[in-house]
Amino acid sequence: MSFAMHGVGVSGGIAIGYAHLVSHAVLEVPLYALPKTQIAGEVARFEAAIESTRTELEALRANIPAGSPAEFGAFLDLHLLILGDHTLSKAPIDLIKNQRINAEWALKQQMDALLTQFEQIEDDYLRERKADVVQVVERVLKALLGHSGHVPAGGSEQTRILVAHDLSPADMMLFKQQRFAAFITDVGGATSHTAIVARSLNMPSIVALHHARQLIRENELLIVDGQQGVVIVNPDKHILSEYKLRQGQWEIEKQKLKRLKTTAATTLDGTAVELHANIELPQDVPQVREAGAAGVGLFRSEFLFLNRDDLPDEEEQFAAYRKVAEDMKGMPVTVRTLDLGADKQLRFADRSGDNPALGLRAIRLCLAEPQMFHTQLRAILRASHYGRIKILVPMLSSLSELRQTLHLIGHAKQELAQEGVPFDTAIQLGGMIEIPAAALAVQTFAKNLDFLSIGTNDLIQYTLAIDRTDDTVAHLYDPLHPAVLQLIAMTIAAADKAGIPVSVCGEMAGDAALSRLLLGFGLRQFSMHPAHLLAVKQQVLKSDLPRITGIAQKMLKTQEPEKLHQLLARLNE
Ligand code: PEP
Ligand code: MG
Repeated sequence: MSFAMHGVGVSGGIAIGYAHLVSHAVLEVPLYALPKTQIAGEVARFEAAIESTRTELEALRANIPAGSPAEFGAFLDLHLLILGDHTLSKAPIDLIKNQRINAEWALKQQMDALLTQFEQIEDDYLRERKADVVQVVERVLKALLGHSGHVPAGGSEQTRILVAHDLSPADMMLFKQQRFAAFITDVGGATSHTAIVARSLNMPSIVALHHARQLIRENELLIVDGQQGVVIVNPDKHILSEYKLRQGQWEIEKQKLKRLKTTAATTLDGTAVELHANIELPQDVPQVREAGAAGVGLFRSEFLFLNRDDLPDEEEQFAAYRKVAEDMKGMPVTVRTLDLGADKQLRFADRSGDNPALGLRAIRLCLAEPQMFHTQLRAILRASHYGRIKILVPMLSSLSELRQTLHLIGHAKQELAQEGVPFDTAIQLGGMIEIPAAALAVQTFAKNLDFLSIGTNDLIQYTLAIDRTDDTVAHLYDPLHPAVLQLIAMTIAAADKAGIPVSVCGEMAGDAALSRLLLGFGLRQFSMHPAHLLAVKQQVLKSDLPRITGIAQKMLKTQEPEKLHQLLARLNE
C-alpha cells in the first residue's frame, strides 16, 4: 500500500531508496509462550542471533573507518566482551527452556537483571557501562527480529534510508562513517544538533514524522523529499518517475551552483560579504574547501568529546585544532570552546539535570569543570601558533562569566609562556550571543570582546521558550518572530557601534530565503554548513543593499506575521 507522511524537512534534496530500521528494538520486544515442540528451534534461533551479532561486531572491529574516534576500537572490544558474558549469551537459553518463552523476552529479562546489578556497582565508570549493555542487547534483538545491521536485499548502502524513532547527535556522528541516501526520524526539531549533523552529512533528512518507525517496514521502497518534509512509502510508478525527474533537476541545480565556488561574494553595489563554514570535526575541512568558504566560522569542538568513554587529552585536542588550522591554510578558524550539555552529553557523565537546555551547559559547564576547560584552552592556544585561530565562547549570559573566562584564558597563556610554548599572544576572543539576556545587554559584551557571533538556534529557542529537540513544539520555531528580529538587529547594530565584527552562525545563516534579511540588518559575515554556502552566495550576488536595507528596516517596525511574510517576499524578489 502506498501512503505519504509529513514531517519537518531539515536537509534538502530527494532520495529514493529502501528503508532500514534502526534502534529502539529494546522497547518493542514481544512476549509469547511456546509449545514444547518449538523450544529446541527457539534455542537454535537465539544461538544463531548471538553468533551473527558476534560476526557483525568482529567485522566492524576489523574494518574501522579512517577518521573514527580513537575509542571506537576499544568500544567494540567492550561490546564483544559483554556479548560473550554468560548472563547474556547462555542464561537466556535456560529461561527459554524452563519458562517456554520466546528468545527476545528471555534476553530482555536477562538484560534487566544485569542492569539491576550494574545499578549497585559503586564504581562510576562501571556503572555507566549500562548503556553498552543495552546497545549490545539491541544488536542481538535486531538479529532476532530480523533487522540485521547488514545491507538489506533492497540495495546498496547508497540507496538505504535510515528510519529511526530518534537519533542522538552522537549516533549521527557514527553514521558519518557510512553512506546512507537519507535519514528520517519520528522525533526531533529542525535545529536540534541531530538535524545539524544530518545537514553536515549533506543528505535529505526529515524529523518529527511521529509514526515512521511504526508504519514503515524493513526494505520498503521510500521517497524522501527533504525540502518539503514528505516521505512517500511504496510509491507507484508514476510518482516514482516524477520524483526521479525532480531528483535530477535538484542535482543539476547543485552542479550549477558549483560554478560560483571561486566567485567573490560581493553584492550588486559592490559590498564584500564573508561566507564562512561550520564544522564538527577536522574531517569536515575538505567540504569547507570544496564550497570555497572564507574560513571556519564555527568549529563545534564538543563533537570531539562524543562517542567515547574518556575525555580527549591536551595532545589529542591540540592535534585536532592544529590540523584544522593548517588545512585551512591561513584562513581564519573560529574554535568554539566546549558546548557540552543539553543534547550533547558525555557518555560517562550525563549532567543534563531536570531541564537540560536551561542547565549546566556550554560555558557554564566549563566554568564548573575548570580543569577540563583549562586543558582545552591550552590545546587551542598551542594550535594558534599553526594558523589563524580565534576563540569563541558559547552561551554567555553575564559579564561575570566573561570575566571568569578571561581570567582562565589569561592563566593558560601565562602557563604556556612560562613553559616557552609558542602561541598567538594576540589571539582574538569572541562571544556567542544566543541568550536573550546577552542580546539585550550586548554593549557590555561588545566592549569586552574582539567579535560577536549570533547563535540563532539557541537565541530562538530561548526567546520563544521552545526546546529545540522537542518535536511537539517544533512548529513554534519562527526565525521571523518580531522579538527574534529585534534581538538580531540590535546585536548587529551594537557590534557595528563598537567597531567589532559580528556574524550569524546559527541555521538562519544557511537559509538562502533569509540571506537578504540579514544583509539588510547590516550583517556582513555568515557562517553556515558548507552545503548551503553557494546557495547563500547566489543570493548575495543578486542583492542590492540600498533597496534591501529599506525593506529590512521596515520589517523591524512590523509586528503582524502576515505583513512580515509579505515584506520578506518583496525583499527576495
Ligand atoms: C546556535 O545556537 O545557533 C549555534 C550556532 O550553536 P549550536 O547550534 O551548536 O547550539
Ligand atoms: Mg548554540
